[in-house]
Amino acid sequence: MGDGNGWTICAFGHRHWGRLGAAGLLVKDGGQVILQHRADWTHEGGTWALPGGARDSHEDCVAAALREAEEEAAISPAAVVPYGYVVDDHGSWSYTTVLARPRNPIQPRVVNAESQDVRWWAAGDVDRLPKHPGFATAWVALRDDVAPVMLVIDAANVIGSRADGWWRDRAGATRRLLGRLRSLAVAGIPASELPEGITVGALTTLLLRITVVVEGSAAAVVTDPPAASCWAARQVTTVAATRDGDTEVLQQAKHAQAVGEQPVVVTADRALRSSLARDEVVVGPSWLYRLLPRG
Ligand SMILES: [Zn+2]
Repeated sequence: MGDGNGWTICAFGHRHWGRLGAAGLLVKDGGQVILQHRADWTHEGGTWALPGGARDSHEDCVAAALREAEEEAAISPAAVVPYGYVVDDHGSWSYTTVLARPRNPIQPRVVNAESQDVRWWAAGDVDRLPKHPGFATAWVALRDDVAPVMLVIDAANVIGSRADGWWRDRAGATRRLLGRLRSLAVAGIPASELPEGITVGALTTLLLRITVVVEGSAAAVVTDPPAASCWAARQVTTVAATRDGDTEVLQQAKHAQAVGEQPVVVTADRALRSSLARDEVVVGPSWLYRLLPRG
């Protein structure tokens, strides 16, 4: 733990904190963001910046940003939903800004000596604040709101599109798909892979929330014990169709839109595709399989 702490010199000759790179968390809620007022004794003290810090060797950049936000601003990792990031790449060193939305109301507070204040700011006020130079650069690109992307997976249709023996054990095939979807949640997907109709602003990698609609004998997976408590496991939810799969997929897509997310429905089902409204984005199972890490 803490093996990333220390100063390093990047390929451009700057001195940076975090031997393995660093990451920060930008929590956005409508037009509001959480910022930390850095203590005067710190590097660039007195400026406003994101809670963040050095990445450790056992962490991905999202886990590092979430841990630092908890250590510095009392933001519980379970209270936010990460939905994308941008990387400021300095060759041998990089800084990753992870964007997240509150899952529950968040009241940040000062919890260590690195901060003199931690609070919500309206985006319009952030423009006028004295900002840490790294954050000032990122803010120009990240100021505008981007709606998180939610994948709604028609599991029976996606599994049925590959003749791999799934019909012998539907629940088993669904568990294998879930495992690969959790890996996809960790990896995220490059913005360039998103279908037309999805807008992502300056984000280069999208972290997806994934709702997997299951039905019939595959619905047994819904009662599985929860997956390990890493941040990515919270991104994947299974839902058993109460009536039929198509109706549930439609409802989940409508719900995502209602809470300000951009749903991408994954199905090849003709009837379902035609009942989705024009403003809903639909892709086929081959789009998903191309992106899924090997299971
Ligand atoms: Zn640098």
